[in-house]
Amino acid sequence: CGIIGIVGKESVSDRLVDGLKRMEYRGYDSAGVCTVEDGQLIRRRAEGKLANLVSVLKTDDAAGNIGIAHTRWATHGAPTTSNAHPHATSEVALVHNGIIENFKALREELSARGRLFESETDTEVVAHLVSEQVENGKSPEEAVKAVLPSLRGAFALAIVFRSQPDLLIGARLGSPLVVGYGDGETYLGSDALALAPLTQKIAYLEEGDWVVINREGAAIYDKDNNAVGREVTTSGVSA
Ligand code: GLU
Repeated sequence: CGIIGIVGKESVSDRLVDGLKRMEYRGYDSAGVCTVEDGQLIRRRAEGKLANLVSVLKTDDAAGNIGIAHTRWATHGAPTTSNAHPHATSEVALVHNGIIENFKALREELSARGRLFESETDTEVVAHLVSEQVENGKSPEEAVKAVLPSLRGAFALAIVFRSQPDLLIGARLGSPLVVGYGDGETYLGSDALALAPLTQKIAYLEEGDWVVINREGAAIYDKDNNAVGREVTTSGVSA
């Protein structure tokens, strides 16, 4: 129900959780984070209140200067830890707000190709689809570009890659997503409120947009994959 991502110059896990707290008002049943550190995806998830995720992180920190986080309002699959986001393969991890309407057909195709699923969510198919492309040698950008047209429904997505310590890719269709510009850091969030302590400089993605983010900024593409500029505004939301 809420998404936040940080491509930063210092540790992100506390700041990700802080962003999730700011979106608690939206409601949620579970939460999780995934960071990228030393060529590894470090994923922590918990059912129930954010306090549960915080205590998981206390015992098992998620180090790293880049990461994504999510509060889930379950639509497909019970509100359990294994259905909590981020969903991941060996290569990619992602968070999703919304519904992938055609997930059943996609899941059948993926299963037929030997992919194994660990959740009941509609979301997990997207992780496998992007992962397949990466495993076949596509760049992260090419992988996401290849997968987006096959998704039906409503989504905001944030995706990180095991081997990419300075790359976050987002996409939106029917669910809001904003890019935040910091000083040597760049952010992605469901709304300006989530990013308020990090930056006031915000660009709203439009329907069908996808975005390639690194520490230095963001390259935004429209649904036809044309590079586009989206106006940067001052959110005025106070931290
Ligand atoms: N449909 C996804 C799920 O049930 C995402 C729900 C959400 O927007 O939080 O896991």
